[in-house]
Amino acid sequence: MLSVDQLVVNYGVINAVKGVSFDINEGEIVSLIGANGAGKTTILKTVSGLLRPASGTVTYEGHEIQREKAPKIVAQGISQVPEGRHIFAGLTVKENLQMGAFLQSDRANIATTFQTVYDRFPVLKERQNQDAATLSGGEQQMLAMGRALMSRPKLLLLDEPSMGLAPIFINEIFDIITAIKEQGTTVLLIEQNAKKALSISDRGYVLASGEVKMSGTGSELLANADVQKAYLGG
Ligand code: ATP
Repeated sequence: MLSVDQLVVNYGVINAVKGVSFDINEGEIVSLIGANGAGKTTILKTVSGLLRPASGTVTYEGHEIQREKAPKIVAQGISQVPEGRHIFAGLTVKENLQMGAFLQSDRANIATTFQTVYDRFPVLKERQNQDAATLSGGEQQMLAMGRALMSRPKLLLLDEPSMGLAPIFINEIFDIITAIKEQGTTVLLIEQNAKKALSISDRGYVLASGEVKMSGTGSELLANADVQKAYLGG
């Protein structure tokens, strides 16, 4: 579905991503794990069209997208949930979700998608008329995910969905990601919480200093002594 090949991304003179390659097959959850500054967010933003690579390709459903603009990439079925959630304060929960459907004009379709999102996140339905800023951190994460799902993505990009959440919400978020996959959406997941991420992932890639150091199935990486030592707390 998605193939990233020899991707190089720079911020001015800083070489953040140094020739990264990885693949995602339809129906998988694939995780990118690694320490702060490894280049994970930079890769995600390049896939979603927010950053341009210096070289390398991002091939989605058979054609290169690395020069395409973000709205065009969303329209093709790739949607990103950014780190820090970036919900719109001052707008209601419902209005935030509507923003996620900005490329759709068919009202019946939008209504069906609202229903799907409300079924997935009942708390968002309960709070649909509330200012989004009044939601808890976990609810805001659900809103950010719901907003991304409003564009009916085939590939969902999640940047640190569990960051800053209470343990009870962390488990819930990972359960929801698994459910989203089971409903047919492919997921690229970035996580500091490598143990949780790998435990729900089909495959993972370990990044360090802008390079892929290792890859394998979720269970292979969880069982790997080097991964355990560096990312799973021994
Ligand atoms: P984090 O979990 O902290 O987001 P990450 O693995 O996602 O880490 P990136 O945010 O992609 O890593 O950062 C990769 C490298 O690029 C780091 O060295 C970082 O300091 C640098 N970097 C990131 N954003 C910028 C920017 N806007 N300008 C300059 N350098 C940046």
